[in-house]
Amino acid sequence: MFFNIIDSDCSSGCSTAPLINPRTKRNLWDVPVASKADIDIAVQAARRAFGSWKLLTLEKRQHYLLELADKLETERNEIHYALANETGKSDLLAQMEIDDSLDFIKFNASQPLDDEVEFEDEKLKIISTHAPIGVVGAICPWNFPLVLAVAKIAAALVTGNCIIVKPSPFTPCATLKFAELAIPILPPGVLQALNGNNDIGQIMTLHPGIDKISFTGSTATGKKVAENAARTLKRVTLELGGNDASIVCPDVDVQAVATKLALGVFFHSGQMCVATKRVYVHQIIFAEFRDAFVQAVRAIEVKVAGHQPSLFSPLQNKMQYDIVKELIKDSRGNGYNIICGGEPEEGLPGFFITPTVVDRPPDDSQIVQKEQFGPIIPLMEWSAEDEVVARVNDTDAGLGSCVWASDIATAERIARKLEVGTVWINNFEVPSPYGYFSGWKQSGVGGEWGRQGLRSYCHTQTIQFYN
Ligand code: NAD
Repeated sequence: MFFNIIDSDCSSGCSTAPLINPRTKRNLWDVPVASKADIDIAVQAARRAFGSWKLLTLEKRQHYLLELADKLETERNEIHYALANETGKSDLLAQMEIDDSLDFIKFNASQPLDDEVEFEDEKLKIISTHAPIGVVGAICPWNFPLVLAVAKIAAALVTGNCIIVKPSPFTPCATLKFAELAIPILPPGVLQALNGNNDIGQIMTLHPGIDKISFTGSTATGKKVAENAARTLKRVTLELGGNDASIVCPDVDVQAVATKLALGVFFHSGQMCVATKRVYVHQIIFAEFRDAFVQAVRAIEVKVAGHQPSLFSPLQNKMQYDIVKELIKDSRGNGYNIICGGEPEEGLPGFFITPTVVDRPPDDSQIVQKEQFGPIIPLMEWSAEDEVVARVNDTDAGLGSCVWASDIATAERIARKLEVGTVWINNFEVPSPYGYFSGWKQSGVGGEWGRQGLRSYCHTQTIQFYN
């Protein structure tokens, strides 16, 4: 059973909605759906709670977070069951997401939030302090529902805010269960979670009792969030879509990099905001690299059972499944060379699509321009550094990128020319609680995680002392 968690109570919602298991397309569970009245009650509870929560010491709030981490660890089987079933992740992938969630809680519980001295002389001292913003509304997507929600919860709470989380209606269960597990730990109203459709998200962005929206989702929705939040001048952090590129330099160990890159590209079937979505390989090694990459891709196991050490998944929902099928159709229709995959997986009941590789489609093709968010990847050739940098930067997205090179100085030089929030050198995209995470251009506004990310949950107050 799953409940909306409002003011420390388990609520069944004004109605329920069925969830689908992406591995089987069978009905999973009914989940509660919140109403506008539920949001109003939650906002009132959060505002009440904020008055005393913000006055606790940082150490006390950190202690609460560590209790949440302990609870998540002891109840991980229950969370795992919800998470693996609703997302379609393998047991291994769901366990990894719980481990990542624990890392985010522990990171946030370990950070200082000290005042900073900005200026000091005999007459004047100026300090900056970091005060909480108030009630945060967190709106989350379906691909990594637990860790993305938990990262927002941990940062908001430790900085002295209260938070209301709206998970994606495709994957609300692990988040609702996490908030339920927190009931005996946190004071009422500090952490609340309400499942709802897009309209509930919109109500939150317009609500005058919510002071900040932390949104993770698509760029199209992010623009609506920004527009609605502007009406009450809420603080807004937007973590949006990407079209990350991997640049492979000519000096790499071809076999090793091709294998690693294939793992990253098809991790959770590419349903990761920072998964590589375009691969640019230097022309000197292109043919050898392509063969090694395709060999690694063909070795990926696609099985209906989740009890396997696989990092590959079905698409989480029909909408995303149809987007990927359309991209395959477009690639085929335009005569691009599909060198492996390109079909829904035969004989499997869920939203599975075979890992698919497209050989050198044109730069203006749909598969290069669009965020596919699924198991299909274009491979392209490059020959000059400035040319590949220009092609990689020639997009509205600016979330992340990877550079693969044996010569680290070359990799770093390229990295610094890329218009993206994070660059990974010689690894696929592995977000870390320690690294500030932000999208440039239309991939976001502001950022989260890392020390700098904690500041996004704070007002900076300047205090000037005169002698
Ligand atoms: P989405 O934008 O469709 O939905 C995200 C959330 O917004 C859901 O909870 C949804 O109910 C809510 N929502 C929808 N319309 C709304 C509105 N008008 N007002 C307020 N809330 C509204 O995104 P999705 O399909 O769930 O997730 C996939 C997208 O998220 C991809 O584009 C992916 O790149 C992006 N993403 C980004 C990051 C990041 O950190 N940058 C991380 C994960 C996913």
